[in-house]
Amino acid sequence: MAQYKKIKVPSEGEKIGFKDGKLVVPDHPIIPFFPGDGTGPDIWRATKLVLEGAVERAYEGKKKIVWMEVFAGLTALKNYDKDTVLPKETLDAFKEFRVGIKGPLTTPAGQFKFVCLDCAAEMNDRPALCPKCKSEWITPRFRSVNVGIRQALDLYACVRPVRWFQGVPCPVKHPEKFNIVIFRENTEDIYAGIEFEYGTKDCQEVYDFLTKKMGKKIPFADSGIGIKPISKTGSQRLVRMAIRYAIDHKKPSVTLVHKGNIQKFTEGAFRDWGYEVAKREFRDQIVTEAELWDNLGGKMPAGKVLVKDRIADQTFQQLLLRPDEYSVLATPNLNGDYLSDAAVAQVGGLGIGPGANIGDGVAVFEATHGTAPKYTNKDMVNPGSLILSGVMMLEHLGWQKAADMVVSALERTIQAKTVTYDFERQMEGAKKLKCSEFGAAIVANMGGRALAAAR
Ligand code: NAD
Repeated sequence: MAQYKKIKVPSEGEKIGFKDGKLVVPDHPIIPFFPGDGTGPDIWRATKLVLEGAVERAYEGKKKIVWMEVFAGLTALKNYDKDTVLPKETLDAFKEFRVGIKGPLTTPAGQFKFVCLDCAAEMNDRPALCPKCKSEWITPRFRSVNVGIRQALDLYACVRPVRWFQGVPCPVKHPEKFNIVIFRENTEDIYAGIEFEYGTKDCQEVYDFLTKKMGKKIPFADSGIGIKPISKTGSQRLVRMAIRYAIDHKKPSVTLVHKGNIQKFTEGAFRDWGYEVAKREFRDQIVTEAELWDNLGGKMPAGKVLVKDRIADQTFQQLLLRPDEYSVLATPNLNGDYLSDAAVAQVGGLGIGPGANIGDGVAVFEATHGTAPKYTNKDMVNPGSLILSGVMMLEHLGWQKAADMVVSALERTIQAKTVTYDFERQMEGAKKLKCSEFGAAIVANMGGRALAAAR
């Protein structure tokens, strides 16, 4: 076991193992977690209550999650030193214990030099206290901790199931037609973070190389330049995970979403490599769209997964107009980023969209929204996203009964119109609950003995 300085490894519970490509989950697995910044602690408390309630009821005390707190963002600054937002031992713990869950973290964007991790205020000097909220937790600008976690642990797939829960207010007429799982590549594309700032020597060198040596035309000389690497390895392992998921969950299709009409050697290659891995590794389980029409007269053989592809911009239209023709999407990083937020908005917004970052043998489940700093410590926001990410985590552990219990209880709670402010303001006759009350209501709707109040 790695040596931990600030992380306290619980004396009860066991590590999750990994054998023959599969997790070996004990009855009392140790799960690393951090609540996150801003509204993170509020949604975490509600989530913990709900997950513990479901596990206790589903397995009558036989199974139990043993939580182990790790640190990132604000809690890392408080526990390590004033400039450490992602301690190495947090990464070690996620790696060693294999399955973790996290709340949202502040991610500074733009050109400013410092950020307040309490209220996300941005500033160019480092004052002793934040001018906005008077917090002392101000840190130099850093690259996204979320991206850091994904890259350090090689969590190459961002998985987001997007479905509608009956009763959730949403902007489309037939949200019930939407039930799609998005597998977004997580480590490369423009998220590799290779950028050159206009006016720097490096940028000029890259500009000269591209224009003079490679003969490329860049429309304006005063350009910042970004590099978009998309690899065969990265594309194929992502598409492989998506197809495996579709087969295991009896989903009808996997759609490769790309912008290959414009970017042939990155986005177009993603599509080609995707089809290649589909035909090479899943030959007996899949049919490509070309094969469907060329060889099978458009009649899909029972039990097989259709592998097709769509241009990214057209996919946005398709998800609005014909969502029921899609079930699993596999996308490069940036397309998937846009698509997953647009998709979850269609079925009711970010407050209720779950997500996970999954690699080979390591997975971190997370709320998909940000820290919503203006609601910090107000016990107000919707914990649905983190709760449903917890459901994905229970499924990942193979604890399906507990996962199903949470989903049914969440549905019952929403149908009873007992919801947080974001839904209440859009639902006629609804009762507004606090974040913690919403968690407690879900537990109460599981039936059986009510757990102790939120810890
Ligand atoms: P945000 O998601 O935090 O909030 C945008 C708006 O969405 C909020 O004002 C609120 O109206 C609504 N919202 C968000 N979460 C909600 C919830 N649980 N219930 C109800 N309504 C909710 O996005 P932002 O304001 O752009 O970002 C704030 C901070 O969070 C930034 O520092 C950003 O970088 C960071 N962020 C982190 C993550 C992550 O950790 N995964 C993701 C996105 C943004």
